[in-house]
Amino acid sequence: MGATTGFARRIIEKYHLSPPIDIETLVANYAEVIYRAIPVSGVDGLSLHLKMPGKRPTVVINTTNPPRRKRFTLAHELGHILIPWHMGSFVDSLDLGEAGDSEDYWTFEKEANEFAAEVLMPEAWVANLVKCEANLAMCHKIIVQTCDVSPHAASIQLTKSLPSHIAYAVVRDSKVEHSGRTEGTRAASLLRSQPLPSEPFSYARQYFVEHLEHQSLHWWVLPDRVSLNSSDSRQWREILNGIVEDIGVPEEKRNHFKSSVNGVIAAANGSIRNQPGYSIDMVAAACLHRLYNREQYEAFVQHQDFETFIAKKASSFVHGDA
Ligand SMILES: [Zn+2]
Repeated sequence: MGATTGFARRIIEKYHLSPPIDIETLVANYAEVIYRAIPVSGVDGLSLHLKMPGKRPTVVINTTNPPRRKRFTLAHELGHILIPWHMGSFVDSLDLGEAGDSEDYWTFEKEANEFAAEVLMPEAWVANLVKCEANLAMCHKIIVQTCDVSPHAASIQLTKSLPSHIAYAVVRDSKVEHSGRTEGTRAASLLRSQPLPSEPFSYARQYFVEHLEHQSLHWWVLPDRVSLNSSDSRQWREILNGIVEDIGVPEEKRNHFKSSVNGVIAAANGSIRNQPGYSIDMVAAACLHRLYNREQYEAFVQHQDFETFIAKKASSFVHGDA
């Protein structure tokens, strides 16, 4: 938890707030709020006269943006007002990468966003929700609807209350609009703007989906151990050679492909070798996390011998004969 979320928490406590937060009234306690159509594309809002003696801060909100975006902008501007080291004026164009020319500017923006997320979706409230509702897609939907925030903002806040090995995607018109994963998750995030694959994490322990008016929310809980069938008399090298041939890797590229696979697997093993309970099943899970949903290994993971290869390879690491 950063210092900025602490400022948000104090406000929540001071006014005894819980979602849905009446952010318009809350901001009006601290600033003159002006609602106006700002014809400059991408501008969400402004904060003026911050920490100026004898001057009340002014917040301008661009009314051309959708309601949930305006709510988040209001909370963001409140962050600029209440975070003591944010001084002067801020023009917020949340989408524009080129806005602002100093590193400080981006630190301030990040801080104001963290503040906004905490005010609208208090972490304690989210953590309590997660305790009561095991369906993560349902948790996500409840946060969107109760806190009146975008699925994107809700997903980021929800991941803070969840353990590692979890991935999610927000899908609109069968394409991934936003995707992510919890801290410590090594599985690849699904590619944005691409169609949602039919079963992106076929080895997931749990899969949840819920629907909103325009989007669907998908969550996968991935295992940290998988038990793969290794009953095959061949050595891993022989299996690997067979797969590489079958999936049509050109002869001159086979050695490169194989060393890239072996490199990924060695890194997977290295990442967990010192963890308690180190086992074949843990190495196997770590390998799946790193190989699924990576374009270059798509055909590789779909091959019928893929799991056998991983089982053999994991065993060779754990038994020290790699
Ligand atoms: Zn800002």
